[in-house]
Amino acid sequence: MKKSISLYDLSYSDIQSQLQEWKQPKFRVQQIWEWLYQKHVVSFEEMTNLPATLRQQLEDAYILGRLDTVIDLTSKDGLTRKILFELPGNVRIEAVKMTYKETEKSRRRNTLCISSQAGCALGCTFCATGQGGFQRNLTSGEIVEQVLFYIRELAKKDDRVTNIVFMGMGEPFANYDNVMSAVRKLTDPNGIGLGARRLTISTVGLAPQIERFAQENIQVNLAISLHAATDELRGKSMPVNDRYPIAELMKACRKYVQATNRRISFEWAMINRVNDTVQQATFLAEQIQDLLCHVNLIPLNPTKGFQHQASDPLRIKAFQAILNDYGVPNSVRARKGLDINAACGQLSQQYDVELKSAQ
Ligand code: SAH
Ligand code: SF4
Repeated sequence: MKKSISLYDLSYSDIQSQLQEWKQPKFRVQQIWEWLYQKHVVSFEEMTNLPATLRQQLEDAYILGRLDTVIDLTSKDGLTRKILFELPGNVRIEAVKMTYKETEKSRRRNTLCISSQAGCALGCTFCATGQGGFQRNLTSGEIVEQVLFYIRELAKKDDRVTNIVFMGMGEPFANYDNVMSAVRKLTDPNGIGLGARRLTISTVGLAPQIERFAQENIQVNLAISLHAATDELRGKSMPVNDRYPIAELMKACRKYVQATNRRISFEWAMINRVNDTVQQATFLAEQIQDLLCHVNLIPLNPTKGFQHQASDPLRIKAFQAILNDYGVPNSVRARKGLDINAACGQLSQQYDVELKSAQ
C-alpha cells in the first residue's frame, strides 16, 4: 500500500516517528539519515548497520528514489552535463551540471541547475518551460534526488557538487513549502551539508513569497527574473507582471534587503532590440541604483515559441556602460552547453518534438 512513498520525501522527524511506530531504538534514525544523505546509497541492502528485518521493513514500505534517466548528454568540452529525468505521472524534468574551471579569481565549481516543478504555470513567453505549460509540483524528495544523482556521479571522479541554483524547470516560489524543505535537507550539516550561501533560488517575482523568504533567516541567495524595467514591456512577455507589477515587486525586494542585508541578483535575458535599449537600461538603473544588488545579463537562448534573438555583443556592452555609469554592479553570464540545449526547458521541448514525430 505504502510502497509509492519515497523515503527522500520524509523529514528527519518523519523517519523518527516511523521508527518509533516500528519500536526501533532512537539511534537508527541517524544511521538511516547518514546512509541517505552522507553515503548516498541507492538501495536498502547497502544500509549494512541496520538489522536485516528493519531493512526488509523499509523495503516493503518505501521506495528509494523515483527518478529515471531518459536522456543523458555531455557537452563537447565535457564541462556541461544535462539529464532529462522521468518521474511518476509520466512527467519529465531537467537537471544540469556546469563545471567552471579554476581561475585566478575563483575556485573550481560544479554548479547544479535543478528543477522545482514539472513544467511551469507562469507562461513567460521567452521560456521553453513556460511554453510547455504546467504539469505538477515536485516533492521535496524529487528535488533533493536531482542533487543526489550528481553527487554520486561526481564522487566517481573524486569530485563534488559545490553550488546549486533553482533555475531549472518551474517557479520555486510557486512550490514554496517543498522547495524550502528540500533546502533544509541540502543544507543540513548532518546530511548533505552544503553551505546555504552556495544555494540560489530564482523567482519570477512572486512578491508575497519574496517577503516570506525574507523572514526565513537563512543565507540562501535570491535572484529575481526582471527582464524589463517598465510594466508595459515586462507585461508583454511575463504575464505575472499583471499580478505583481514592478513597483510592487521592487517594494518586496527592498523589504528583503532590509530584513536580510543580503544582495539581490536581478536576471535580465538580453533580447535583441527588445529590452536591451538605452531607455530600458536607464529605467532599470534609476530604480535599483540605491539597492544592494547585482544585475546578471544573460544573452537570450532562442526557443521555438519566441521569435527573437540574443542581443548583439555591442548592444550588451552599451547596456552595461549605462549600468556602470549609475554604479550598478553587473556581469554577463557565460552561455554554457549550447550544443546540448542546456537552457531551461529546452531538452524537454526537444524530447516532446521527437516523441511526437516518432508516433
Ligand atoms: N521560474 C524561475 C526559475 C527558473 S528560470 C524564474 O523565472 O526565475 C531561470 C532563469 O532563466 C530565469 O531568470 C528565466 O527568466 C531565465 N530564462 C528562461 N528562459 C530563458 C531564455 N530563453 N533565455 C535566457 N534566459 C531564460
Ligand atoms: Fe516559469 Fe521561470 Fe520559465 Fe517564467 S521563466 S515560465 S517563471 S520557469
